[in-house]
Amino acid sequence: MTKTISTRLLVLGSGPAGLTAAIYAARAGMSPVVVQGIQPGGQLTTTTDVENYPGFRDVIQGPWLMEEMQAQAEHVGTRFEWDHISDVDFSQRPFRLTGDSGTIYTCDTLVIATGAQAKWLGLPSEEHMKGKGASACATCDGFFYRGKKVAVIGGGNTAVEEALYLTNHSHDVTLIHRRDSLRAEKILQDRLFAHPGIKVIWHSEVAEFVAGGTPEALVGLDLRDVRTGAISRLEVDGAFVAIGHHPATELFTGKLDLDSDGYIAVETGSTRTSVEGVFACGDVMDKLYRQAVTAAGTGCMAALDAERFLAAQEFEQLQAAE
Ligand code: FAD
Ligand code: NAP
Repeated sequence: MTKTISTRLLVLGSGPAGLTAAIYAARAGMSPVVVQGIQPGGQLTTTTDVENYPGFRDVIQGPWLMEEMQAQAEHVGTRFEWDHISDVDFSQRPFRLTGDSGTIYTCDTLVIATGAQAKWLGLPSEEHMKGKGASACATCDGFFYRGKKVAVIGGGNTAVEEALYLTNHSHDVTLIHRRDSLRAEKILQDRLFAHPGIKVIWHSEVAEFVAGGTPEALVGLDLRDVRTGAISRLEVDGAFVAIGHHPATELFTGKLDLDSDGYIAVETGSTRTSVEGVFACGDVMDKLYRQAVTAAGTGCMAALDAERFLAAQEFEQLQAAE
């Protein structure tokens, strides 16, 4: 028999955005249910050191932080379901969602916090060096390369911003791009080209991430000139892949308004989506900041927006009944 779980507020995703939304919603008495997805705890469970989440003087571990957030959400009354949502029906309220497990979820209001994943180049050597010199987040990991040589791969706004950001830590930043012009905005390009600490290598792609030393760490990148095929080595300690992100929004295509990059469109200054009663928070609606603390911040906003939405609905129903 099909199992059905009905709740006033359903949260999709168990990263910092979803868990913060759950903490606020639970404390407001909304008894939220969180569907965790296939990555319980979200992206931070794939990293080690986190130094920029406020409240901790010492370096903390990403998986530990997410365990603590989940424990806090549980403690205040959140119920967790280990499932992945594969279909949504927003055509009527309560909304109806279907999990891979076959469970049907119905809810009066929905908070979407399904996050985004960085795109990687897809090289086995890149996979091997993740956490040992290969990163997809300069704001997160740049600090670990103070005074060292770093490279950024990509030619869009993200890559240029990451290269500029890295100059806070390194005087030797190289941007590697596969073409001879950047797609980043002109103002960012102007800053990049004017910066004495940044050089650009054009017409090049990464052929290999090169490991060395004990313990093993990144020592360089083998670069392929895309015009000639010639390989040359660039010595670097850190390489930041900045070739874009995939927001986890396939599920919502045609059901919610998405922006031109596939992120969920929300009203400025709120987490309201194009469907009344559906709210979005975290990396799935934010292509600019993409930080745990900003995801948590918008998670808080989504819970407050959902709470106000439900209160207004209940008030209307009471008035109609009188
Ligand atoms: P995510 O953390 O991406 O969580 C998404 C959640 O949605 C997951 O639980 C997933 O299982 C779930 N989900 C997806 N699809 C479905 C579905 N269909 N049904 C149900 N659930 C679903 N930020 C920092 O501030 N500091 C750092 O030091 C830092 N380091 C990082 C290191 C790495 C390697 C990476 C990848 C990111 C790092 N970040 C860091 C960025 C930070 O992790 C993200 O900004 C943050 O996790 C975004 O939170 P989120 O809740 O929006 O989404
Ligand atoms: P993007 O604009 O899609 O740029 C991705 C870059 O990576 C491109 O230069 C692309 O090269 C390169 N690339 C893609 N796949 C590659 C591969 N396999 N190997 C090597 N290079 C590869 O992505 P983004 O920079 O993350 O930006 C995404 C969106 O967010 C954009 O709309 C952007 O404007 C926005 N954004 C805005 C800001 C801001 O306003 N400050 C900041 C960040 C992001 P090609 O150019 O050759 O295709």
